[in-house]
Amino acid sequence: MATRMDLDGRPIKPMTICMIGAGGFIGSHLCEKLMADTPHKVLALDVYSDKIKHLLEPDSLPWAGRIVFHRLNIKHDSRLEGLIKMADLTINLAAICTPADYNTRPLDTIYSNFIDALPVVKYFSENNKRLIHFSTCEVYGKTIGSFLPKDSPLRKDPAYYVLKEDTSPCIFGSIEKQRWSYACAKQLIERLIYAEGAENGLDFTIVRPFNWIGPRMDFIPGIDGPSEGVPRVLACFSNENPDRANGHIFNVGNPNNEVTVRQLAEMMTKVYAKVSGEPSLESPTIDVSSKEFYGEGYDDSDKRIPDMTIINRQLGRSCFFDCSQDLLFMVHMRTTYAEAIKKSMVKPIAS
Ligand code: NAD
Repeated sequence: MATRMDLDGRPIKPMTICMIGAGGFIGSHLCEKLMADTPHKVLALDVYSDKIKHLLEPDSLPWAGRIVFHRLNIKHDSRLEGLIKMADLTINLAAICTPADYNTRPLDTIYSNFIDALPVVKYFSENNKRLIHFSTCEVYGKTIGSFLPKDSPLRKDPAYYVLKEDTSPCIFGSIEKQRWSYACAKQLIERLIYAEGAENGLDFTIVRPFNWIGPRMDFIPGIDGPSEGVPRVLACFSNENPDRANGHIFNVGNPNNEVTVRQLAEMMTKVYAKVSGEPSLESPTIDVSSKEFYGEGYDDSDKRIPDMTIINRQLGRSCFFDCSQDLLFMVHMRTTYAEAIKKSMVKPIAS
């Protein structure tokens, strides 16, 4: 493998990465990328390994030995500190991050996104390691624009809704709108990590994904996920340029991908028809209120448009998919779920 260079033209030394939540959607893709394109070693931590099974065996894989899975729950496992100590860099992806849980399981959401992440921050700080922590665009909450009168011309001014890492405020709904429990927990852990950087000089980067989509991101209840669960509506950043990334918080999204949930559903049904060759549905969407869908305590967010100035300045032009790339995603959905769809279509209907 040719030596990789960072954005400043310096060779990148192979390192050991402790990836917490490596078995999830983003983690599994990141592991694939690290194995295929870099010489780095990965200590992959998660309670599940299904999504990275293809990277762990057989032993004849070209990267055999470079990725080692450790099944553990960071809530209570004494191996965590040792694994963070062994690594040059820790990437923390572990979280409950399914919107349907924010208002229905607020305690688990707060514990998972704040309390459970505390030991990770503690060990990174005590051992003077580098941390990349995955936060969320949800920390911005509502935009200032959403408080303007409906007919105000200012609503069209990007200054009122484009979200900038270093200047936009974080505006959440009232406490009984428990949907904000996730955003608030994520915000507090961000502030803690930022304070570790400011007071103790620790190296960190915070990433705020803006609704990334792709294969392995979600599940269909009862088919490849819990039958009771509500799935989510639906990587490319550098971890090899620490000098340019340290101390920064990055929006990671595509400002041109702004679609409403209705548009997203329509786009998906259109693309699905194209990929499957089946005719488009006559009425592809029905209106369901967010309260009906998510339950009591839900609160809608308005526009979420990332300002990309900081990431473009620090890491060069960003390369994020646009919505049309979801074609690939639909191909995956089709192959993953074709059999399940067929089966559910031939099920007898109860009279
Ligand atoms: P995911 O749910 O697919 O992955 C999270 C992984 O963490 C899961 O495999 C889970 O088993 C693991 N995990 C959770 N708690 C754990 C624990 N206590 N011990 C060990 N492992 C644990 O989520 P994802 O989409 O890959 O998201 C990763 C991170 O990015 C999360 O922090 C999430 O908040 C953030 N994020 C993602 C998006 C997105 O668009 N996917 C958007 C905003 C924020």
